[in-house]
Amino acid sequence: MDDRKDLNMNPAPGEQTPWQPDRSVASNPWPHPPMATAIGRGLLGRCPACGKTHIFNSFLKVTAECRNCGAPLGLAQADDAPPYFTILITGHIVVPLMFMVDRWSEPPLWIMSAIFLPLTFFLALALLQPIKGGTVGLMLTLNMLKSDPNET
Ligand SMILES: [Zn+2]
Repeated sequence: MDDRKDLNMNPAPGEQTPWQPDRSVASNPWPHPPMATAIGRGLLGRCPACGKTHIFNSFLKVTAECRNCGAPLGLAQADDAPPYFTILITGHIVVPLMFMVDRWSEPPLWIMSAIFLPLTFFLALALLQPIKGGTVGLMLTLNMLKSDPNET
């Protein structure tokens, strides 16, 4: 018996087509909305795939799986992205406001601190959860999911 034929390597010309890998991508069982829809649902704290359930167990803890559509939300590890975007947005709101107030009336430092320290704190606190939801929505759309759920 011809071993080359069994392994399907180097077939004789015209004998048969060489083996091809299966390049078809299996579709995930959960819904696949457009990216903007998924991010929008995430920003509202809903499942990015179906929009029917809440995405968070606690303030920033994402549920392992959507109870409605089964999307593996826990496999989308946002890591440092939500704090990065939160700092970026908060800084771009607070710093120009500080300059504007300072230019406008030059208030003493304690008044500036009394206004802008709490504003920075609560703005970052308010933005962090929606931004994390939006990031999970983006990651789910891009299929940026961990393959091993136990991997840290
Ligand atoms: Zn869902």
